[in-house]
Parts: sequence; structure tokens; C-alpha cells
Amino acid sequence: MDIQNIVRENIKNLKPYSSARDEFKGTAKVFLDANENPVDVYGDGLNRYPRPLQDRLKQKISDIKQIPFENIFLGNGSDEPIDLLFRIFCRPGVDSVITMPPTYGMYEVSANINDVGVKNVLLNKDFTIDVDAIISEADDETKMIFVCSPNNPTGNCFSKESIIKLLENTNCIVIVDEAYIDFAECESVKSLVLEYNNLVVLQTFSKAWALAGARLGVAYSSTEIIDYLNKVKAPYNINSLTQQRVYEVLSKNMHNNLSQIKIERKRLQNELKSIDCIETVFESEANFILVKTQDASKLYDYLVSEGVVVRNRTTQPRCENCIRISVGTTEENNKLLEELKRYSM
Ligand SMILES: *Cc1c(COP(=O)(O)O)cnc(C)c1O
Repeated sequence: MDIQNIVRENIKNLKPYSSARDEFKGTAKVFLDANENPVDVYGDGLNRYPRPLQDRLKQKISDIKQIPFENIFLGNGSDEPIDLLFRIFCRPGVDSVITMPPTYGMYEVSANINDVGVKNVLLNKDFTIDVDAIISEADDETKMIFVCSPNNPTGNCFSKESIIKLLENTNCIVIVDEAYIDFAECESVKSLVLEYNNLVVLQTFSKAWALAGARLGVAYSSTEIIDYLNKVKAPYNINSLTQQRVYEVLSKNMHNNLSQIKIERKRLQNELKSIDCIETVFESEANFILVKTQDASKLYDYLVSEGVVVRNRTTQPRCENCIRISVGTTEENNKLLEELKRYSM
């Protein structure tokens, strides 16, 4: 696909801000180029600006994920690349994107912020994707398609074949949000970015990596799209603390409780099936479980009154009376199950 063709004119012509750290890349003894405080007052190096392109951390991620450095963009959470993609490809008041409810709410919010239209192509009743409907919805003004896999809040993955069909049969940027991929049996499609220049794959350190507070999202894409993301981002979008901390976690092979969460997910699924007030327990490839009940708002209020907060999804299409439950610790899950049993009595 010709990416240049759908980039906004102002972005194509944009001359990006060139920071002090961009302009001088060699080694030197004296840095008097960025108006920083010359003294490391707190002993943590924070008197200096962070690395603008996060080269050290990005190289580490590249080695671990086996994706070339130049196909990786790091953002302040996944929200940053989502917003930047709107700003690169979508003309406010003119263009549109396609989302597939029920799904993550941020795509629509980001579209609204950027004054970009949203075309909703609902998932099928069994939560599979209606590829043909999406392809026929995509017109000349449709610039991006958001595919969340595993999908939040339904928990299922979409097939690689359906994603390839979208990549090959539309003139859109296809954004595959894999925030929950580490919990899933299905495979990441990130290596496809080397084949399809209109694909963007989003991952995050917020879920399986237990670093939600660090705010680090990763976008894998063609070098053409990565170059635009780098051109449009704020010069120092990832702070030094986050760059250092995530590098350390990736280097030290730190304790990871992924398998524990998957065991708890299985147990929770089984237990939920035997509880009277739960009508359906949907399969999940993520670290949450969607359940259908008789009256989601009533159940939600009851749980809150007992100090257990879950996510009421009843207003989402295809999710009437559904509640999304994150997999917690064994103790937290036991408390939830206990309250659900009491509610059912
Ligand atoms: C949690 C989540 C994210 C993560 O967002 P961050 O900004 O990286 O914390 C992204 N996409 C989906 C679908 C999510 O549920």
C-alpha cells in the first residue's frame, strides 16, 4: 500500500522539532546545549533530559521480541501511539475510522478528540469479526481499522487470516491492539509488520509485565509509519525513570506471575460456571473473564457495597447484563466467589 497517499499534508510537510539531544549524538565532556541544571542534585541523573528515541531500551526490546529496532516505537502507554496515528492519518472533520464494538473505549475517545468519525461494525453474536462487513464499510475517507485481539471485554482472539484479509483488501492502516497477547494461546501478528506496511501492532507493559504505573506502550510497524510516529511525538515522550526501570526488568529476568494468573483464570472460570447468578461464562484468552448475569447493574451495586469492584459492561452492544472481572490474586478471587455465592442465595 502507498502509505504516503493517506498521510495528512501538514504532517508530510512537517519539519519536526530538533532537540539538543537529537542534534549532538557523539561523546563529549561538557554539555551546555540543553539549558539543564548541570548538577545531579538528587543523585539519580534526572537533571538531564531523557534519551529522545530510547535507543538503549528499544534495542533491548528489539533483541527480546526479535523485531528490528527501526520497526519499533515506544509511547507513553498505548494511548500515545493511538492518538499519534489519528493525527498522522485522519483529517479532522473529514476522515473516519472503523471500530468493532464491543471493544476498548479509547479508540472512539481518541477519534472524538481528533474530530474524526467512527463507523461501528458490530462483532457477530459469537464475538467473531465480520470481515466482509468491515471491507464494505471502508470508503475513501476511512483511514484506520482498530482490531483488538484478544478483545477487551469479550476475551477472544481474531484469526490471523481475518487480519490479513483486512490488510490486503482495504486502503486502511490496520491497528491490531495486542495488550493481552501474553495471556493468550493465539500468536502475535507482530512479525507481519515486515510484510505489510499498513499494519501497526500495539503491545503494552501495563498488563502481563506488571508495569501499568510506568506507562510504556510499544508499537511495531513498517519503517515508514514508525518514522512518522517519531516525527510527530513529543521530543522526550518517555521519561528517564521509565526507560531505566523497564530496561532493568527486561535485563534481570525478574519474577513473573503469568502462569499463576492463567491458573487462577482457569479456576475462576470453572467456579463461576457453578454459581447460580451467573448465566454464561465466556472463554477468555486474557486476564479477565466476561460473564452474563440476570441484572448486571444490580449485581454490580451489590459487589461494590461489599467492597469488590468489577466492570459493568451492560451498556456495550452485545454485552447486555455482562460484567467483566479481572483475574486477581487467589484471595481476591475467593472473596469475589464468596460474595457471588451469597448474592445468589
Ligand atoms: C489495558 C489496555 C491497553 C493498555 O493501555 P496502556 O495505555 O498501555 O496502559 C491497551 N489496549 C487495550 C485494549 C487495553 O485493554
